[in-house]
Amino acid sequence: MDKHYDLIILGGGCAGLSLALRLAELGEQSPTTLIIEKRPAYSNDRTWCFWDEGNPALTECADHTWSSFKVQLGDKQLVKNCSKNPYVMISAQTFYTRAIQNITANAKRCRLNHDESVLAVIKQASQTWRITTNMGVYTANHVIDTRPASQISDDMSVLWQSFIGFEIEASQDLFDAQQFTLMDIDQSFKNGLGFTYVLPVTPNRALIEYTVFCEQAMSAGSLQPYLDVALSQYTNHADYKVLRKECGQLPMGNQTVKQSDDSSYIFAGLYAGAARPSSGYAFQRIQGWAKLCAQSWVEHQSFIPAPKDAALTAIMDDIFLHVLKSNPDAAATLFFSFFSKAKLISTIRFLSDHPTLTDLGSIILSMPTVLFLKSLPSFLKKRVSMSLHVSIFKSTK
Ligand SMILES: Cc1cc2nc3c(=O)[nH]c(=O)nc-3n(C[C@H](O)[C@H](O)[C@H](O)COP(=O)(O)OP(=O)(O)OC[C@H]3O[C@@H](n4cnc5c(N)ncnc54)[C@H](O)[C@@H]3O)c2cc1C
Repeated sequence: MDKHYDLIILGGGCAGLSLALRLAELGEQSPTTLIIEKRPAYSNDRTWCFWDEGNPALTECADHTWSSFKVQLGDKQLVKNCSKNPYVMISAQTFYTRAIQNITANAKRCRLNHDESVLAVIKQASQTWRITTNMGVYTANHVIDTRPASQISDDMSVLWQSFIGFEIEASQDLFDAQQFTLMDIDQSFKNGLGFTYVLPVTPNRALIEYTVFCEQAMSAGSLQPYLDVALSQYTNHADYKVLRKECGQLPMGNQTVKQSDDSSYIFAGLYAGAARPSSGYAFQRIQGWAKLCAQSWVEHQSFIPAPKDAALTAIMDDIFLHVLKSNPDAAATLFFSFFSKAKLISTIRFLSDHPTLTDLGSIILSMPTVLFLKSLPSFLKKRVSMSLHVSIFKSTK
């Protein structure tokens, strides 16, 4: 392969590699592809979880699945059986290894450059893209840019999901590896929702994470004291060693989703609409986009951005975030009510992006009515001012 490609993918993380995996399946039909990744090597830096909705391509590489989960609020506890749609975990290590194997098997048409940073991208008079990196210059007919935002600010997103987790190995058996804790809500956390998330993979090994949903993105350092409390609670002061750490800040309701006017330059990944507003999760949405994108190449020799959320789901997410933002102290009740009253299958389909109208009805009915009615005037005011802003903007264009 020379330095010109059908496609150059900027960033070989989840979105870049997911697309490369899908394109590799096309064999000789796949575009010639270069992935430029700035990390010198991959590490087991994150754990992707999602509800299994019958996607064998994803579940066959699962590291662990759970058939039940707990949600806890003070002395109230819900235990839900999710054996029909198990909760699936894929470690970054498994995912990266699989992606590299497939890329290597398709080496004639796809290449992954590590330890290389994209510095500049410009469109040339020839209508091709010129990509300059710290290692050289390449050209491409199409670019997919998955690089994350270079800087984040609190006002970029309605809320932020910030978390820090330690995967630990305890000196004694402490966990039930069949059941995970989705939310152990911390009633002492103010100005948002704080909770512990526990993913046990063996009786003495688990990922224990402390997560906060609030208006500010919180640093790992500021979350550490909360995690320390959760660790001592879940290990019951038994000895343990930390196997690895992970942390992140995910936008919930990103206000600055990027997309270019040029169909040969597509933004993708976490900061281009992949993060679900009401949960911040993105893995399954990225897989869905990668599949559509590869199909688009076969059918039209072009690529596509992530599809927009269905209108009703988008409105539900918007209301949900608005209620959470304007009632941070009520977040704990809101979530507990959601899990205790809505039907489990509706909850799973809602969280996995495919709610039916009945699911949406079940979710609306599960919410504390007073809270919603209280937030309705400010929500409607916000929507009206947004529509006015859009129509004034359109009429002055
Ligand atoms: C710790 C953690 C746990 C998560 N858990 C879940 C989960 O359980 N479920 C879920 O659905 N979502 C989860 N997410 C959210 C989301 O799925 C991930 O953030 C996912 O990795 C997003 O994919 P991406 O490709 O957009 O970004 P990334 O995977 O971050 O990929 C972007 C890539 O671009 C590279 N890059 C950046 N700048 C340059 C440059 N100048 N030149 C070249 N390369 C560059 C980076 O090195 C990186 O590899 C989690 C996120 C984190 C951080």
